[in-house]
Amino acid sequence: MPFARVCILYTGGTIGMQKSAAGYAPAAGFLGQQMAALSEFRNPALPAYDIHEFDPLLDSSNMTPADWLKIARCLEAEYAQYDGFIVIHGTDTMTYTASALAFLLDGLHKPVILTGSQIPLCEVRNDAVENLITALLIAGNYPIPEVCLYFGGRLLRGCRAVKSNASGLSAFDSPNYPHLGSAGIDLAMNWHAISPPAEQAPPLRVENTSLPLVGVLKLFPGMTAAMAKAFLQPPLQGAVLEAYGVGTAPDHDLELVRAFQQASQRGVVLVAVTQCRQGTVSLGSYVTGSQLERAGVVGGADMTSEAALSKLFYLFGKGCTPEQVRAELPRNLRGELTPAWPGWMKR
Ligand code: ASP
Repeated sequence: MPFARVCILYTGGTIGMQKSAAGYAPAAGFLGQQMAALSEFRNPALPAYDIHEFDPLLDSSNMTPADWLKIARCLEAEYAQYDGFIVIHGTDTMTYTASALAFLLDGLHKPVILTGSQIPLCEVRNDAVENLITALLIAGNYPIPEVCLYFGGRLLRGCRAVKSNASGLSAFDSPNYPHLGSAGIDLAMNWHAISPPAEQAPPLRVENTSLPLVGVLKLFPGMTAAMAKAFLQPPLQGAVLEAYGVGTAPDHDLELVRAFQQASQRGVVLVAVTQCRQGTVSLGSYVTGSQLERAGVVGGADMTSEAALSKLFYLFGKGCTPEQVRAELPRNLRGELTPAWPGWMKR
């Protein structure tokens, strides 16, 4: 793609922040000015790019599902004009947005790469230049039909990524899926792990029209039924249950089990993922897991919590009923989960 054009959507994050008395904060126009001043960003080896700056720029801790949809719509609007896309984003909730975009962008066949940095571009020692330059080279040269996250030398599938380090420069990983590529002396793509290109280039569609209310509930020793009930109140439509190990939860507290069951019966879709960094949920493996299944909880296989949350958001947001959401959750829609091997871990 010698004349590739890349669209950069700049949503905020540390990469373009400025120091203030209260700490780093986003500043309108600041990132573009700094990039214009650095010769690296004018190197002819880079694809041509345009920067679309969001208003307001956000520290990503302020991102909401409405912002996921705003980014998806913006990508949809610019899709035909460009060969690849970069979403510059804060690192704190980058994996949530990456997962959400993977679902929201139906029919995607061009690269969408989220990146950012742990140290702002304005600091003399930073990881911003490398992350941005490499993301630009990948977006402009490799026909990867996926939402990816590039950071610290690693190219990851967006809906498999987790933020694994709050202060290190290799801040992201995908513990349940191979890296899609790596940036060492050369850029090396792991084509076996990358989705194959679509046979025909379908149009990109963002079908979501509403903002369903979905959430995450992490189990912990001592959680009471009252706490769970308070969380599962209407208008909540779906929740990710971060369960223990292969998907277990206490069965001695019958009130707690009933809280999950009553929520399911009211149409709240509950999907169990594991609190462990790696591995998969198998609700039938233990009595303490199969009771969740009987209470209506769906097993989320090896999805990250972020992927499960945004999958609930996507499915409800495009109008699925609770029954349809329950049926779709265990299906592999965007490479976000490894389908269960029949009989896995059954004893
Ligand atoms: N708080 C920042 C953000 O998520 C952190 C970062 O970008 O690294 O926007």
